[in-house]
Amino acid sequence: MQLSLEELERYDRQIRIPDFGVDGQRKLKSSTALVAGLGGLGCPVSMYLAASGIGKLVIVDKERVELSNLNRQILHWPSDIGKLKVESVAEKIAMLNPNVSVEPLALEINEDNVENLVKRVDVVVDGMDNYKTRFLLNASCVSQGKPFVHAAVHGLEGQLLTVLPGKGPCLRCVIPSEPPQEALVPVLSVTPGVMAALEVMEVVKLIVGLGKPCSDRLLIFDGYEMKFHEIKVEPSPNCPVCSKFTRSKYVKT
Ligand SMILES: [Zn+2]
Repeated sequence: MQLSLEELERYDRQIRIPDFGVDGQRKLKSSTALVAGLGGLGCPVSMYLAASGIGKLVIVDKERVELSNLNRQILHWPSDIGKLKVESVAEKIAMLNPNVSVEPLALEINEDNVENLVKRVDVVVDGMDNYKTRFLLNASCVSQGKPFVHAAVHGLEGQLLTVLPGKGPCLRCVIPSEPPQEALVPVLSVTPGVMAALEVMEVVKLIVGLGKPCSDRLLIFDGYEMKFHEIKVEPSPNCPVCSKFTRSKYVKT
């Protein structure tokens, strides 16, 4: 995958990162990410993946923009109210970085379409607001061996886990059953921005091959105390999703 002169200049500052280079930028351009949900997490995830130079974004959300979205869903602006979120995000991405191909899908992720959605991408990014869909995405990523970068937010707090099938726990190992769902989750404007930035950091690291993923611990962000905590996590022998798959790295003798 060749980079144009415009792209070499656009991405110059990250190409200079040791072990990133032009090769890393080419890997990003050759990659496709699924952004599941275009709310508080999915908006900044889409924006940063596009700015980073991902080749293609498959963006999925069935909803339309509402006024109460605007405190945190930063790609939706007042003139977008009533518009499909996928249209609103596709328009902004085209303005931010026309090198990025965007496939907008205004649909609800469910049992019938999840396999097909995951099949066509290299990595799945969690921008959902419910565990039912998160668990669907997690299971599909595990069965297809695709990385799943999970984040969730509440108030001034968030959590992050990168699921690498076969190499670490899946989301169900760490969160075995759906937590109670609040009708309207309280969220400070910037909390999803913090967690979305961390999700994109994980995606870029995975694609380029940099650093160490957050796959063996649940990273907890506490905005009240401005602290990060880590909970060590391991594959569960009883996990209904991933225990039937090979976990070569985790086989204990
Ligand atoms: Zn599992």
